[in-house]
Amino acid sequence: MEQDISRRSFLGIAAAGAATAVGAVGLSACTDSDASSPGATPISSVGIPETWDYEADFVVVGAGTSLTGALKAVADGMSCICLEARDVPGGTTSLSGGSVWIPCNDYAQDDAAAAKIYMTKVADGLSTEAIIDNYIAYASEMINFITEKAGVQWAIADRTDYHEQWEGATRAVRTVKPIVDAATGQTGNGSGYTQPQAEAFTALGGTMLLKTTAEKLIARPLEDGRQEVLGVVATEDGKTINVKANKGVLLGAGGFDYNEEMKAQYLDIPSPCTFMVETCDGKGILMAQGVGAELAMMCYGWGNAAYKVIGDEAYAKRAVDASIAPLCYQSDTSSMWINRYGRRFCDEAASYDSFWYGFGNGRDTTGEMAYTNIPAWYVCDQGNRNRNAGGDGVATPDSGGNIWGVEAKAEPPEWVFQADTLEELAAKMGLDELSTENFIAQVERFNKYAAEGTDPEFHRGESTFDQGGPGRPADCLEPMNTPPYYAAVIVPFLQGTKGGPKTNEFGQVLHANGDIVPRLYACGNNAGCGTPGKYYNGAGGTVAPGMIFAYLSAIDAAKLDSWA
Ligand SMILES: Cc1cc2nc3c(=O)[nH]c(=O)nc-3n(C[C@H](O)[C@H](O)[C@H](O)COP(=O)(O)OP(=O)(O)OC[C@H]3O[C@@H](n4cnc5c(N)ncnc54)[C@H](O)[C@@H]3O)c2cc1C
Repeated sequence: MEQDISRRSFLGIAAAGAATAVGAVGLSACTDSDASSPGATPISSVGIPETWDYEADFVVVGAGTSLTGALKAVADGMSCICLEARDVPGGTTSLSGGSVWIPCNDYAQDDAAAAKIYMTKVADGLSTEAIIDNYIAYASEMINFITEKAGVQWAIADRTDYHEQWEGATRAVRTVKPIVDAATGQTGNGSGYTQPQAEAFTALGGTMLLKTTAEKLIARPLEDGRQEVLGVVATEDGKTINVKANKGVLLGAGGFDYNEEMKAQYLDIPSPCTFMVETCDGKGILMAQGVGAELAMMCYGWGNAAYKVIGDEAYAKRAVDASIAPLCYQSDTSSMWINRYGRRFCDEAASYDSFWYGFGNGRDTTGEMAYTNIPAWYVCDQGNRNRNAGGDGVATPDSGGNIWGVEAKAEPPEWVFQADTLEELAAKMGLDELSTENFIAQVERFNKYAAEGTDPEFHRGESTFDQGGPGRPADCLEPMNTPPYYAAVIVPFLQGTKGGPKTNEFGQVLHANGDIVPRLYACGNNAGCGTPGKYYNGAGGTVAPGMIFAYLSAIDAAKLDSWA
C-alpha cells in the first residue's frame, strides 16, 4: 500500500496541475462549471486555484475528536488550521459523557493480548488486525499526550466493557474520564478534554477558524486515476475561501445524522433522531467520495433507543438533548419492549448499541412491508417506576432518573398510556386481538422467567453488564404484576452514524481501488472505522477511535513532503 508520494510523480503532476490552474483560472468559475446537473453541488474540485486565502501543513475539518490530530500536528511542529462550522470548538465530543475507551492505559492493570482478543470479536470482521494493533499500541500514548500538552488528568471509570461475556473483556479497566476538579478527583464530560485541547492548539500556534464550513476538497489527478488532495474550499461567514494543505487534510466533520437522503440510502435500521450536533450533515463523507474514497460500514449506527416524542422534538429543534437517552437505563426489573405483534424482540438490559440491532430484526413481507419492531412500545408496571425512582420515590443518578422525567407517584406525560389491566393497556396501544393475546402470554412468560431468575428467550440478566454495571439494576428481572401498567412508543435512535470513508491503521482514507487517497485522512464519525469494527467496545468506544486515529493521522502526515 502506498504510504507516500514519490518526488518523481509529484513533479509530473505539478506540471499538470499548473496547466489546469492557468486554464481554469478562478476556482469559483470552476465550481459552477463542475456541476454535473442543475442544482448539483460539486464535492471535489480538480485544479489548483490561482490564490489561496490560508495555508498550513495540516488542515483539519471539524473540531470534535479531530482536535487531537490538530493538537498533535502543532505539537510536532507542523502548521495547522482547523475549520469548524459551529461558533465553538468541541462538537458533539464536548457534550459527550467524557468516557474514552483506552485499553492498556496507565491507570489500571490490563493485558494487550486479552484486549486484542476482545476487540477482534467486537469488530466482527469489519476491521483489520493492523487497525486493532495500532489502536492498542497508541491508545495510552494518545491520552498521555493530551495530559502532557493540554494538562488533562484522567481517572478510571467503573464501567463494564459492553460485551463482558466475551473473552478478554474487563470491568473498571479500560474506560477513562477527564478529571475536572483536581481537589476532589471529580470527573467531567467531554468538554473536560476538548476545551483544554482547543486552548493548547491555539497556544501552540494553531489557527482555529470558527463559523467556517468546509465545502469540498481541492485535488489534482494522478496518473493512475486517483486524486491527490491539496486543500479545502470552505465558506467563512458566507465568503468562499481556499485553504491550502501542504501535507494533508484530516476530515473530522462527523457523520450524516442530519442528511435525510443519505440516511434513507444507507441505514439498515431507520433511526429518526440523533445525539450529534446539527452541523453533522454528511458533507465530510461526500467530500471523501468526491476524490474516490471507498465507503465502509454505512449501514450501521452507534445505536440506542428513545421515547419517540422526546426524540422527534430534539430532532426538530436540531438540539442535542441528553434526556433522549435514559430509556436505556430504564429497561430494568418489571419492564419490557413489545413490538406491534405483542412480542419482545431483544435483551432490553443489554448495552444500548447492542439492543439497537433488535429493532432491525424483522420486516413484514406483505402489506406495508413495515419493520416489525419499529416503532415499538416500552411497557412497565408501577413496581418498575417505584424501583427505578428509588425506595422513597426520588430519582438517583444510579437509578437512571425518574421514568419520563416525572417522579414515581406523579402523573406520566400525556404520551404515556396507562391502564389497570394488560387488556385495557393493549386496547389503548391499538393492538389487535391476536397481538393482545401474544402480549398477555408474553407477560405471563416473562413473570415466570422473573420468578425463576432466567430469561431463556433473550437471556436478559445473564451478562454482568445486564446485572449491574454502574447505573444498572442488580436484578433486571422482576414480575410485571403491579398495576397500573404503562406503555410509551419507542424508536431506535442514533448516537451517531458509524459509516464513512474506509480508513487504514494510519487514519489514511482508502480509494475504491484499495490504495490510499494521497494526503487524505478521516476520523470519528466521518470515517468508516467503527469502534474499530461493528459493535461497541465499551463506554468511550466512539470518541476513543476518533481521537486515536486523528492522532495517528497527524503522525503520518508529518512524514510527507509538502506538495507545493
Ligand atoms: C450526551 C452524549 C453523551 C455521549 N457520551 C459518550 C461517551 O461518554 N463516550 C463516547 O465515546 N461517546 C459518547 N457519545 C457519542 C460521542 O459524543 C460521538 O460519537 C462523538 O463525539 C463523535 O465525534 P466526531 O468527532 O465524529 O463528531 P463531533 O464531535 O460532532 O465533531 C464533528 C465536528 O465537525 C463540525 N463540522 C461538521 N461539518 C463540518 C464542515 N463541513 N466543515 C467544518 N466543520 C464541520 C461539527 O460542527 C463538529 O464540531 C455521547 C454523545 C452524547 C450526545
